[in-house]
Amino acid sequence: MADTQKKMILVTGGSGLVGHGIRLAAEAEPHEDEEFYFATSKDADLRDLEQTRALFAKVKPTHVIHLAARVGGLFANMNYKVEFLRENLLINDCVLQAAHEAGIDKVVSCLSTCIFPDKTTYPIDETMVHNGPPHRSNEGYALAKRLIDTANRCYNEQHGRHFTSVIPTNVFGPHDNYNLQNGHVLPALIHRAYNCKQSGEDFVIWGTGSPLRQFIYSKDLGKLFLWVLREYHESDPIILSVGEEDEVSIKQAAETVLSAIGFEGNVVQDTTKADGQFKKTASNAKLCALNPDFEFTPFEQAIQESVDWFVANYETARK
Ligand code: NAP
Ligand code: GDP
Repeated sequence: MADTQKKMILVTGGSGLVGHGIRLAAEAEPHEDEEFYFATSKDADLRDLEQTRALFAKVKPTHVIHLAARVGGLFANMNYKVEFLRENLLINDCVLQAAHEAGIDKVVSCLSTCIFPDKTTYPIDETMVHNGPPHRSNEGYALAKRLIDTANRCYNEQHGRHFTSVIPTNVFGPHDNYNLQNGHVLPALIHRAYNCKQSGEDFVIWGTGSPLRQFIYSKDLGKLFLWVLREYHESDPIILSVGEEDEVSIKQAAETVLSAIGFEGNVVQDTTKADGQFKKTASNAKLCALNPDFEFTPFEQAIQESVDWFVANYETARK
């Protein structure tokens, strides 16, 4: 007979980069009272409320980690603004409403630091989500994501639900989307570096290489997600990020990738490509105050592990 005390945690978007990070963290330190269901788009198209309700009826979750989203790098966001806006609006509306109807008290959804205002003071913190327009390059995605924070407050104030959200910076790691055109910068650079090492062609960094980013390893993010699920009880969002001092330029990130893959050829820049938002430096002061002992994996080690994973899984990796 099923243990009625057991937490059943539904992870939407469970087959993606972040979903795999959570799976690893859950497997590394299992809690006896927790069971996970990692859903993919094959379980349900979460843009459809009936399919979403059916998934909740099948899994019978007590808790939800909501990751499922239309996700992509700067260039995917620029080229598919309508899809990024509409699909994310639909997915988020269906998941939060189905969770409410199913009587689920705790949902942890995933925002992103690119939702913050483009024109802002630094460092950005959790109080600044709605302070001004996001960067135009990803406004469809950003505004759809911001509305999760609004929805969380509405469900909390009207229905007493503890729906909350986390705000990770740029994520990378095993099981990323390594597509050269639509992926985020690190997986795209890893894939391109791999190709250039084979072919001997020049390695191209898109844009000026000067924009700054804070990168978080998916394995670290997985651990932090479970900490939020278990220990964080506010409705307001929390930024999950390395410190401001760990921000790197795109050029530095590319050099770390090239060193990890062992590429020794020419490096050139294609400055006809967009830079996107120059920086979105986020404060992790709230995280450090609430979880002071957390240790992030050093960037070089995390990049080496991600490169090694890509090389070992080249045939099957998403690309
Ligand atoms: P990902 O690797 O592209 O995975 C996306 C996941 O969403 C997959 O499991 C996919 O299922 C699922 N999905 C997409 N459309 C769906 C639909 N219509 N119905 C059901 N499932 C659907 O993305 P990720 O990088 O792990 O992102 C996870 C979350 O983190 C997202 O909310 C994203 O906004 C957020 N985030 C990501 C980053 C980053 O740098 N990657 C940064 C900040 C925040 P299939 O595998 O079946 O297609
Ligand atoms: P963002 O952080 O939301 O802007 O998204 P990305 O992860 O796609 O990072 C975009 C930044 O990396 C921009 O400054 C791009 O010019 C730069 N960049 C350099 N090479 C690439 C590449 O091959 N793909 C992507 N997506 N961005 C690149």
